[in-house]
Amino acid sequence: MESLKLKSKLLYLLLIIGFGLVIVGFVGYLNIQNIKRNIDTLYFGSLIPLSELNSITETYNNDLASPIYRWSNQLLSDEQTSNNISLGIERVNQLWTSYLSHEKRPEEMAYVDYTETQIQNLERYFGEVRSIINNPDRTHPLSLTVLDENIRLIHDTIHQLIAYENAAARYEHSILLAEYENALKQLIFFLGVILALVMGLAWKIFAQIELQQHQLMESTETLKHLNLKLEQASYTDSLTSLFNRRYFNIVYEREFKRALRSNKPFVFMMLDIDFFKQYNDTYGHLQGDAALQAVAKVLRSTLQRPGDYPFRLGGEEFGIILTDSDCKNARMMGERVRSNIESLKIEHNGSKILPILSISIGGICITPTAHMGEDALIHTADTNLYAAKERGRNQVVFTTKL
Ligand code: GH3
Ligand code: MG
Ligand code: MG
Repeated sequence: MESLKLKSKLLYLLLIIGFGLVIVGFVGYLNIQNIKRNIDTLYFGSLIPLSELNSITETYNNDLASPIYRWSNQLLSDEQTSNNISLGIERVNQLWTSYLSHEKRPEEMAYVDYTETQIQNLERYFGEVRSIINNPDRTHPLSLTVLDENIRLIHDTIHQLIAYENAAARYEHSILLAEYENALKQLIFFLGVILALVMGLAWKIFAQIELQQHQLMESTETLKHLNLKLEQASYTDSLTSLFNRRYFNIVYEREFKRALRSNKPFVFMMLDIDFFKQYNDTYGHLQGDAALQAVAKVLRSTLQRPGDYPFRLGGEEFGIILTDSDCKNARMMGERVRSNIESLKIEHNGSKILPILSISIGGICITPTAHMGEDALIHTADTNLYAAKERGRNQVVFTTKL
């Protein structure tokens, strides 16, 4: 359930990022288009027309006025001059047509129309000049003053147009800069919004992940603790809290092999309460349980070394494994357990040997060899226990084989 929530949040995060990027991309696209249009207007609408207008004035100077001056100084023939004029007019017309082909702002149309009229007037004028030059009689002399006047007039007109184009270009440029700044601001704004949203959501998601991790760690700890308890429970006898038969089997096999490997003595003892059936019959089963617990308590308090293992093997039978002991000490420990139980002085009037509760012990201390069966030790301990019972109970019968 929680992971589903997390998934949907991650999906939201991706959607926000994706949506944000689409918006930023779209806005960016619009802005770039706008800027491109502005650059086009600046470049093709202002700069190129400017160069064309400049070329027109140069053509008037170099291709029209200049040949006529040279003609008047007899440096150029009639025919050459006439050709130059035709070519000049043609070039002016070409340049003007090209200039007109660029986009014009409505406000500048008045200037443009006025200039066009001037150019047409001059075309007519130069047509007349050509016919004067082409006419060998020259009844109408050519006035250089009028020529100067006309050239000056067209210069002024075109320069005015150039000045207007310049002003318009500056205006366009300022618009371009403003739009560029605006686009930059929009970009920063959208990116900021997306970043804030993503950070906010990411923070929430990480907080949730952290919380879940914490919960998971807590659950793991609880589980570990429960596992340990379960393991302990499965190895513990519920009445006496001693290790049970199951754990005895594990420890017995493990320690027998260890003793075999390290060539050290292995000690095993079997304990059995004397006349316990009579005890139950005399004092009841509950009292019997209490007696079992008292015996277990003595085992625990007498066997306190890390290598000492007391077990309840079943019923009123107990077992002892000593792993870090020599045989002399082992026999002594068995005797100590017996006498400590005797010292409890638990009343047992049903016993045929003493008026108190006692136990018999059969034990063996041996350094295991490879050919020796593990069960042989249990068998010997059992036989010794039987012997202890036979010899009058409340005693230890111990075999030592080194
Ligand atoms: P011996 O001296 O020969 O060992 O005589 P005994 O009466 O102790 O031997 P026996 O094995 O005949 O009797 C064992 C009795 O232990 C039988 C049963 O009533 C008692 N017993 C076994 N388990 C429990 C237990 O968990 N609680 C109680 N109260 N009694 C138990
Ligand atoms: Mg018994
Ligand atoms: Mg018994």
